[in-house]
Amino acid sequence: MNRTQLIEELRRIVGPRGLVHRQEDLLTYDADGCVMDTGEPHVVVVPETTAQVAAVVKLAARAGVPIVPRGAGTGLSGGATPIQGGIVVSTARMDKVLEVDVRNGRARVQPGVINFELSQQLKPYGYQFAPDPSSQKACTVGGNIANNSGGPHCLKYGITASHVLGLEVVLPSGEVIWTGDGTPQTAGYDLTGVLTGSEGTIGLVTEAWVKLTRLPEAVRVVLALFPDIAGSSATVSQVIASGLLPAALEIMDRLAIKAVNDMYKLGLPEAAGAALLIEVDGVEDGLDELLHEITAICQRNGALEVRPARTLDEQTRVWAARKNAFGAMGRLAPTYYLVDTVVPRTKLPYTLEQVGVIAKDYNLPIANVFHAGDGNLHPLILFDRRNQSQNQRALEAATQVMHVSIEQGGVISGEHGIGVEKQDYMTLLFSTDDLAAMAGLHQSFDPLDLFNPGKVFPKGKGCGELAALRRAGVEWGALKAAGMM
Ligand SMILES: Cc1cc2nc3c(=O)[nH]c(=O)nc-3n(C[C@H](O)[C@H](O)[C@H](O)COP(=O)(O)OP(=O)(O)OC[C@H]3O[C@@H](n4cnc5c(N)ncnc54)[C@H](O)[C@@H]3O)c2cc1C
Repeated sequence: MNRTQLIEELRRIVGPRGLVHRQEDLLTYDADGCVMDTGEPHVVVVPETTAQVAAVVKLAARAGVPIVPRGAGTGLSGGATPIQGGIVVSTARMDKVLEVDVRNGRARVQPGVINFELSQQLKPYGYQFAPDPSSQKACTVGGNIANNSGGPHCLKYGITASHVLGLEVVLPSGEVIWTGDGTPQTAGYDLTGVLTGSEGTIGLVTEAWVKLTRLPEAVRVVLALFPDIAGSSATVSQVIASGLLPAALEIMDRLAIKAVNDMYKLGLPEAAGAALLIEVDGVEDGLDELLHEITAICQRNGALEVRPARTLDEQTRVWAARKNAFGAMGRLAPTYYLVDTVVPRTKLPYTLEQVGVIAKDYNLPIANVFHAGDGNLHPLILFDRRNQSQNQRALEAATQVMHVSIEQGGVISGEHGIGVEKQDYMTLLFSTDDLAAMAGLHQSFDPLDLFNPGKVFPKGKGCGELAALRRAGVEWGALKAAGMM
């Protein structure tokens, strides 16, 4: 089937409004938030129903064309980038909250619902969708599920996987299944768990039952300012080790403070080397005591001052500064490369010190804005993409951060997914047998390797082939040496 025939068949399925095929319009879909990798789609469809998605997937299987699911494209690992072309399936028109079932503590939603919108719609009922990525005003629930995303409040409430009760999924065969019925426990294999975090490689989520979380009765927010990042990160591990559980513990270092200070009129002193944003929530009773215990730990670790955000407006501004800090990097450099790793909380001070060393070694500024409570680092390497040397140094510096994190017992992604960006680091973290088991699982869902191909697994051959070679006992190292990866 040639491209013209493919477009005609797709038009019959999704209608003219659900089709994007002009060259200039396709440019919008050639990357996600990670601008390091791009790829042009054959065509983009924007379906409205599960039946349309299933028909598109069946057609793609018949034509041997890849399917690339796409939410809002805010992923920072190239997950929604059509690096091998194919049909990009955008969920932008599947954006409804279909049912709010307060009595059972759940809501049924379409995948294109914007994360923030969902919580807004739940607010009148006294509930929220707890996972709150900093990108929540743009990212979709489908993208959150596919990347198993986190957010500032996931320290207390858990990441997306803890808030998904069942999924309607179109499989690579075009079959439509439900992985659960929206009740907290299901019998049999945990297919919801398998699908969550699978980055669109084994199924396209078309509906989801998500868990409702009660809005807290009261909230307190403070900013603790430290002379350097070591004191703030040591505070984080001591707070958790003391058995205290804040709603959020987020750190911004000196460069990040510089980027957001003026923009959000925070008035933070230049002497501050790090700001630790602390939020506690729950019932009013006892909240001040909890906050007092936490700020006492800040003081023991050399905090310069602790500033409460006294009004709702102040709280909103502090959170806006934190959540929009990545965007504010534009004040410091034309481009940033975000590295997303996790280390055990106790390793934060050493790892961050090493990030500082890497910045010096590669002569590039690195800002740090991160979910410290989860040990989830986000070093932002600042550079100018038009400068070849800086480009190269940014990539090398990112690799060094990965290595340091893994040496400290960490992992290579906290929340943004593996996508294209981190696929080659998978061999640093997983054994050949681990990867073969994953490839085998992938193959059982997607034997033709048509769902988001060229992602997650180390570069080279398709997963099916890798799994088969592995079953035949071929070592990962040998595959690499033979140029197959
Ligand atoms: C400024 C900024 C801040 C961020 N902060 C955070 C943060 O705090 N925490 C965090 O976790 N992430 C964060 N991110 C990363 C990103 O926003 C999240 O990973 C988000 O969940 C991606 O959602 P999306 O709708 O944009 O998905 P996309 O980027 O469109 O897609 C992400 C992946 O999901 C797949 N996918 C999308 N929809 C579906 C579907 N319906 N079915 C199957 N697969 C699908 C895609 O193929 C791709 O592999 C941030 C990004 C930015 C730009």
